[in-house]
Amino acid sequence: MSGPTQKVLKPGDTIGILGGGQLGRMLALAAARLGLRCHVFSPDPDSPAFDVVQNATCAEYADVEALEMFAADVDVITYEFENVPASAALVLAARTPVLPDYKILETTQDRLAEKDFVSKLGIGTAGYADVTSPQTLRAAIAKLGLPAVLKTRRFGYDGKGQTILREGDDPEAAWQRLETRAAILEAFVPFEREVSVIAARGADGQVVCYDVTENEHRDHILKVSHAPAPVSDAIAEEARRIATSIADALGYVGVLGVEMFVVPDGSGARVLVNEVAPRVHNSGHWTLDGASVSQFEQHIRAIAGWPLAQPLRHGTVTMTNLIGHDVDDYAEWLTVPGATVHLYGKRTALPGRKMGHVTVVEADTSHKT
Ligand code: AMP
Repeated sequence: MSGPTQKVLKPGDTIGILGGGQLGRMLALAAARLGLRCHVFSPDPDSPAFDVVQNATCAEYADVEALEMFAADVDVITYEFENVPASAALVLAARTPVLPDYKILETTQDRLAEKDFVSKLGIGTAGYADVTSPQTLRAAIAKLGLPAVLKTRRFGYDGKGQTILREGDDPEAAWQRLETRAAILEAFVPFEREVSVIAARGADGQVVCYDVTENEHRDHILKVSHAPAPVSDAIAEEARRIATSIADALGYVGVLGVEMFVVPDGSGARVLVNEVAPRVHNSGHWTLDGASVSQFEQHIRAIAGWPLAQPLRHGTVTMTNLIGHDVDDYAEWLTVPGATVHLYGKRTALPGRKMGHVTVVEADTSHKT
């Protein structure tokens, strides 16, 4: 895929960010440190990113006039969430460069298109099948066996829009529960651990990967990340090679997160791709305090046309998400030696809502990234 022509930004220039969540907030903070301004566009008046920027537009993604004014005010546009409506991206890209190229979203917004794309690169995924009805679901179960995971093709995140099917479950009922006509069935992967690679790719094609990170989930939501992941050098190398080939094949500019399963295989292990996130990723938050240059700064550098960093990791890093009322413990976390507390400024702690995170860095002897 070929992307839009890259413009090289100067300090003082303005980056437009679509989406106003914590990822947008941390992108804007990283940009500010490099002397770049940000203008955040979000329909939510309570957007955490609004607190840290001078220019904000609170409007719907269907508001063409607001999109045009936003595009006119910024030098480059990026996004902090993957469900940017294609119609909004089209309006913006006609006026101002959008990076990463929004056409990538056609692949990453659709689990079936994404799995097809990854498989065509020769990279392993869970076995999968297209499901559009109870009949096709039965055929998919016959092909893949049970247990299996039924997922909506679009708009799934943090375990939403998916259900596990086990022996004895009624496929018809599972299909009705999903409330969709476009889904995929995935074979259940008996993984040994879940890992991710955060990769940055510049417009010149240079790719820089952070250390492979191990991720633990609670109720389908990322709870703790460990960097580096306790995997062999061969698995780490393979995971980074996979992320690099995905970034290259997408002609990507910016930071992306690739979620993977490490699966036991005979006496060794192999790596399967679960999901590609075309944005900075929660499992890369450790890089804010645990590396010389964070994933947020890498993304800003890439879309600004600036050189990528070769980040150094400061030690063994643990990142813990503060989810819902976990955030009530912030005062205790503030007293933990070596801990850095990040609070996103969200007003209400709802169950499953990411309210902040804490990073703890411990000295180690290896200083790879
Ligand atoms: P996803 O929304 O696809 O990232 O899935 C959320 C979580 O569900 C993953 O992080 C895994 O823990 C689990 N999961 C998803 N797909 C599978 C699968 N095919 N086999 C086993 N576990 C899965």
